[in-house]
Amino acid sequence: MTEGNPLALPEDHLFGPDNLPYGVFTTEEEPDLRRIGVRYGDSVLDAGAAAEAFGSPHAELLRAALLNPLMAAGRDVWRAVRAELRGWLTEDAHRETVVQYLHPLTDVTMHLPFEVADYVDFYASEHHATNVGRIFRPDGDALTPNWKHLPIGYHGRAGTVVVSGTPVVRPQGQRRPKGEEQPSFGPSARLDIEAEVGFVVGSPSTPARPVAQADFREHVFGVCLLNDWSARDIQAWEYVPLGPFLGKSFATSVSAWVTPVDALDEARVAAPERTHALLPYLDDTGGSQEPGGFDLRISVALNGEKLSEPPFSAMYWTAAQQLAHMTVNGASLRTGDLFASGTVSGPEPDQLGCLLELTVGKGPFLQDGDEVTLTAWAPGPDGSRIGLGEVSGKVHPAS
Ligand code: CA
Repeated sequence: MTEGNPLALPEDHLFGPDNLPYGVFTTEEEPDLRRIGVRYGDSVLDAGAAAEAFGSPHAELLRAALLNPLMAAGRDVWRAVRAELRGWLTEDAHRETVVQYLHPLTDVTMHLPFEVADYVDFYASEHHATNVGRIFRPDGDALTPNWKHLPIGYHGRAGTVVVSGTPVVRPQGQRRPKGEEQPSFGPSARLDIEAEVGFVVGSPSTPARPVAQADFREHVFGVCLLNDWSARDIQAWEYVPLGPFLGKSFATSVSAWVTPVDALDEARVAAPERTHALLPYLDDTGGSQEPGGFDLRISVALNGEKLSEPPFSAMYWTAAQQLAHMTVNGASLRTGDLFASGTVSGPEPDQLGCLLELTVGKGPFLQDGDEVTLTAWAPGPDGSRIGLGEVSGKVHPAS
């Protein structure tokens, strides 16, 4: 670090040169001009303007109002752009130019960074699925017979994915309270969160050609934090036999920053030991594949107080397995597809990712005015840490 270098960061900063997540921002001066930003320290680099100033071949992609064109460009371009950004932000020769395109984070407004194509939500934590199974089906097996043979998922509502900071209006709907014969209608009394990790698809795939686990990095552009807001009373009444519907579809919050998969190299870990043999397309015990898991340390806070610290490394099913599973029938990927991990819960009582589990089904659930914030970090190179963008949302009364 050079004395007086405006780009110097403390070594333990969560958003240093090995991170460089992407987002979309506007400034107060030009509130209608959406631009791609790259987070560096507590600043946002106007990536398109910097790319033009440096004569980058990728200036057009970085001048877009959303990440989708960059996401669609494929892994070679993602790597090339990342190398350029790193160079602009760390090489002395570029400093004078690049500082002109940095905005303090506090001066910008962040927006949903990509247009969401399809949204799929999985159910990949054995601890979560077991805990919820016991609460929802106390007289049956906690895990359904299929659970250890395939990553269970459902299609959610892409159009209600919102960026961190967007208020969440308490949903209304049908629910049948315990002991009642007839359902009634009204605001959910059991509004909950689900701490999850979202994976953002960049490169599309060809219809009728399943995507192998080994091709995960060719297709997945990045990672975000995700809160799958859930109305437990609506969900419990409606979910049999086709799964979640209106109890989930009112809002799903994602972080404003998408962390490139390439920034998480040091965080790759093997998935936990499986107790059941897997069909070949899901088997990840082969020696040549990179580890399927990610060591992401999540923290859940309610009104500023820490509730739990779910460890993503404990997830039974990996994102690569989920990708292989959701294309194995020939369904193709589109740029902007978002698939979420499912609630992240670990084995310990302070590692649970939703209020349903934290209160063993009893509540209290979220009150109007409550604000929930998810943060996370992952191990980076040389002992550094890679921060994921936070995702927060405040509950507003039913309208
Ligand atoms: Ca979920």
